[in-house]
Amino acid sequence: MAEALEHRSWLLPDDAPVRRHRLRALSRLGKVSLSFVLIHLLVTLLFTVSGYRFKAAADDALLGTRLSAIVQALPVVIGDDYLGELLGDGPFDEPRYQAMLQRLDGYAKKAGVDSIYVLTQRGGHTLFVMDSANTAEIASGRYGQHLGHYDSAPPELNEVFAQRRSRFVEYSDQFGDFRSLFLPIRGPHGSQLVLGADVSLEAIKAERRACLLLFLGIGLTTFVLGLLVIASRELRISELAFEDPLTGLPNRTRFIMDVNRAIAAGHRPLSGLTVAIFDICDVKRINALYGYGDGNLLLQGVARRLAAVLGEGELLARLPSDGFALLLRCDQDICLARLARTLDKPFRLGGQHAVMVKARLGLARYPIHGRSVQDLLCYAEVALDAASHQAVSHVFYDPELEQRRLQSMALLDDFDQAIEAGELRVFLQPKARLSDGHIGAAEALVRWEHPRLGLIAPGVFLPIIEDNGRICALSLWLLRECMQLSRACDLRISVNLSVQDLESPTFPTQVQALLAQTGADAAQLCLEITESSAMRNPEQALVTLTQLRQLGFSLAIDDFGTGYSSLAYLSRLPVDELKIDRSFITQLHQPEQQEIVRAIIQLGLIMNLRLVAEGVEDRQVCTLLASFGCHEVQGYVIARPMPAQVFLTWLAVRAGHWTPDALADGARSTA
Ligand code: C2E
Ligand code: CA
Ligand code: CA
Repeated sequence: MAEALEHRSWLLPDDAPVRRHRLRALSRLGKVSLSFVLIHLLVTLLFTVSGYRFKAAADDALLGTRLSAIVQALPVVIGDDYLGELLGDGPFDEPRYQAMLQRLDGYAKKAGVDSIYVLTQRGGHTLFVMDSANTAEIASGRYGQHLGHYDSAPPELNEVFAQRRSRFVEYSDQFGDFRSLFLPIRGPHGSQLVLGADVSLEAIKAERRACLLLFLGIGLTTFVLGLLVIASRELRISELAFEDPLTGLPNRTRFIMDVNRAIAAGHRPLSGLTVAIFDICDVKRINALYGYGDGNLLLQGVARRLAAVLGEGELLARLPSDGFALLLRCDQDICLARLARTLDKPFRLGGQHAVMVKARLGLARYPIHGRSVQDLLCYAEVALDAASHQAVSHVFYDPELEQRRLQSMALLDDFDQAIEAGELRVFLQPKARLSDGHIGAAEALVRWEHPRLGLIAPGVFLPIIEDNGRICALSLWLLRECMQLSRACDLRISVNLSVQDLESPTFPTQVQALLAQTGADAAQLCLEITESSAMRNPEQALVTLTQLRQLGFSLAIDDFGTGYSSLAYLSRLPVDELKIDRSFITQLHQPEQQEIVRAIIQLGLIMNLRLVAEGVEDRQVCTLLASFGCHEVQGYVIARPMPAQVFLTWLAVRAGHWTPDALADGARSTA
């Protein structure tokens, strides 16, 4: 069993690897996100630092330009005459001088600097010529006096006097800490002057602090916004990894994680825990009829209804394809009734189509069927397969189902070489005309003579090879055999086709090639198609059947009455024969069944078809069918299917006729 489970690639071996896998996935996601955050932090830091430095450098440049403009305008503001007076030997007018210093101070403040001044050097000392001062400074005498010594002059000032080259300097003196521009000029009376302007370093530092704060603010905001973007991206990634985008439901990965967590947490009652796979049968049909938009609307509608009936602690997830996974916690009958109710009203799709849908359920119980959600899902799927094959609404997992699945897989492997190894056998079952007992036709029924298992009936192996898409090879083999047989006898031989033959676009061409190879007459062969296979893809079936009809084959609708086909559609098919299903014939002793069969026969007669009743087992039924107007009968009443060669001998002995006297022989013939 464990080996079988490993076949399913989507299964993880047990709970621990799921968690490991998830942790690995999360840590990978975490690493990527951490890298994003670090890169983002680095970029933000770089941006903040370089932005700040750029702004500080620009501010410095602006300050330099301002200082230099102010200093260069100083001689004009003071006036050359007044400067000459201050440096000459004439009388000195102190009040006028102080008024001039105040004017200079007003000019300095307007120009955005702290002070402006004119200095000169005499006898190795630096002297104030003028030094801007406000009223308070003048009153307190805290300013550079006319030709007073500037004792705390910075050493750079001497260099400016000596080199006669302007320069920016940061210095401290008795008046404070400054950034200044010293500009040397030639003054009146051959004097050497240095014009200067100061900005307090405190003001510059305050401006820098404001600039730094601004950039830190911008950097922080950018960083937080970036984090939000990264977080929302991560949220979206985890949504995509664990959520079905169409319905918004958790996906299978998430379902496995959640159910494992619920099991590990030991939520009560664990005994009623059931994993179900809910498969909608009609989505493909809706897609084909109305388009994918409506198919999606249907899935969304089903998801909404299922979500609405979920009970406490129950879970719902969308599976790939047309299915949903459910974790149910209640008593099985209540659950099934609840789920059945969800679908008992039609779904309204776009374009106002209202459709009813059918669903199938596969169910597996915890812990009797499996202890991990992976096992339970796998078993629920096995049960769902069984529900589809049995055409029932739900199936609970049964270990025998798994056994049968394994046997099917083994049989499928063996079938790969069955045709080439000559293990298939053609059996024939006669059809007799009711009016005169003439046997002019037979149905070919395949058997597989398995080297180990003996003779296997088609009902055992055909569904398996049909499910795996390998039936066309068998149909072509059987057709070749029957074409060759038809050349050796004067019989109409019926061959059963599968729905896959009808849906294969190359099938008619392959059959045509067989006709050419065997030299058979297509008119001697009748192809039987069940009503349900003709209805699965009606348009394609019509195309293929028309092509086969054009090749000269006659066509029969098999198992008529079981496929709910529309009469309008059937009347468009180029068929010649209607085979009334055995289920009607076996119950022909019931009056209402007689009415149904009579109606079918009348309908067939109106449509000008040959009517054949199959599964006829007794003579009274033959009499009844003859009175209804049925043309031919096939069944144990005449003979069971026999190996082709046995059949030919059987037919020769009876000279192609079946009479009621032959009943005893027919009933003794065995398959
Ligand atoms: P079918 O085409 O409806 O074939 C008639 C089935 O009813 C045959 O079963 C036959 O043995 C059985 N039968 C005939 N008369 C009686 C009767 O009086 N009473 C009862 N109880 N049964 C009767 P078989 O041979 O097992 O085939 C089963 C089905 O397998 C066939 O049903 C057909 O659908 C399919 N099948 C058989 N051979 C082939 C084949 O070569 N190709 C395809 N595609 N399907 C085949
Ligand atoms: Ca048949
Ligand atoms: Ca049939």
